[in-house]
Amino acid sequence: MTHSIALLGSTGSIGRQTLEVARELGLSVAVLTARSQVDLMERQVREFCPRLAVMMDPDAAAELRLRLSDTDTQVLSGAEGLLAAATAHEADTVVTAVVGSVGLAPTLAAIRQKKRIALANKETLVCAGELVMSEARRCGAEIIPVDSEHSAIFQSLQGCRDMEQVRRLLLTCSGGPFFGKSRAELNEVRPEDALRHPNWSMGAKITIDSATLMNKGLEIIEAMRLYCLPVEQVDAVIHRQSIVHSLVEYRDGAMIAQLGTPDMKLPIRYAFTFPDRAPSPAPPLDLITCGALTFEKPDEDAFPCLKIARQCGKTGGTACAIMNAANEEAVMAFLRREIGFNDISRRVEHALSRVAVKYAPTLEDILEADRLARAAVKDQ
Ligand code: NDP
Ligand code: MG
Repeated sequence: MTHSIALLGSTGSIGRQTLEVARELGLSVAVLTARSQVDLMERQVREFCPRLAVMMDPDAAAELRLRLSDTDTQVLSGAEGLLAAATAHEADTVVTAVVGSVGLAPTLAAIRQKKRIALANKETLVCAGELVMSEARRCGAEIIPVDSEHSAIFQSLQGCRDMEQVRRLLLTCSGGPFFGKSRAELNEVRPEDALRHPNWSMGAKITIDSATLMNKGLEIIEAMRLYCLPVEQVDAVIHRQSIVHSLVEYRDGAMIAQLGTPDMKLPIRYAFTFPDRAPSPAPPLDLITCGALTFEKPDEDAFPCLKIARQCGKTGGTACAIMNAANEEAVMAFLRREIGFNDISRRVEHALSRVAVKYAPTLEDILEADRLARAAVKDQ
């Protein structure tokens, strides 16, 4: 059970919901971090009184320091600040709710301090999953997924003593705002259309990833790394209602799933209370009124990111790091209206064709692959 948290990315969608859960469970909040949202960070610090607040952006840190001069909260900035946040001695649990591969170094640092990791930042596991998981095993640090599908799988695996019993993991996928559209129709979609997700309210980057289905691709790799399974044993199925959060299919044919109304506070709460459960103020799912649950095959021609991710999962080495970094850059370019929706997958494929994959990569190889992939996307 978690008592005190360091929350990396407190001003984001997961960050704000984590603070709601912390309030509800009465957790102490030792550290908060953000990139540049000073107003919200100031309000959060005044409510939760952390020992440390970190702003990635140095100007934002200077502004926050000024505003908090009447408090006991220390303010740091930049990557060094983020590392100090991840290793703060007061926190037993580090919530990684920053977006992108910037989460990698602080996650590794927290693992080395044997913290419980409540992991939302999937990009970390995608770009360096094997390294992160082996470091967690070596240090004896628990990694508890916050991503709703992986939390569902984690919950459905409780009581399973041997992964040999598992035939496959089945990730559910809402299909995003463009479900049913053809590749040609997708040429026309704009950022504001893509930012309208049918079931979940999330940060901009993951919302675009949900629209391209790259989010499901990233999640297939996240699941492979968390549960040490080959890509052939992880599948995705479209489930428009987002009620079944994912399933484990065992070798005797039993399928065990976790269901509920879409609410990220459940997986966040479970990451803190595991192996126990705490009462939730939200009403439970009503099976009588929730309507029909449907399942169908994803359209990989219209949404090639899923195929690309599966291929990178098969290739291994730095392929997933290249794909992830290229996708981060391409999504930002789409949000800035510099490229079209279908160009996101094209840019990712371009980076994968330009940057050579290294096998059995070190952390340096992964960081280099990330850098080269970003450059390849920008140069196109
Ligand atoms: P948001 O964009 O809403 O929030 C991101 C947070 O990280 C903010 O606090 C932001 O600060 C901070 N941040 C952004 N860039 C940097 C940077 N370069 N360095 C340091 N801090 C930074 O994202 P979400 O909360 O939606 O997602 C966070 C992570 O959780 C992602 O990896 C996402 O894939 C994953 N996730 C999210 C889900 C959701 O429902 N939202 C569901 C499952 C997984 P600032 O506000 O100052 O910019
Ligand atoms: Mg998810």
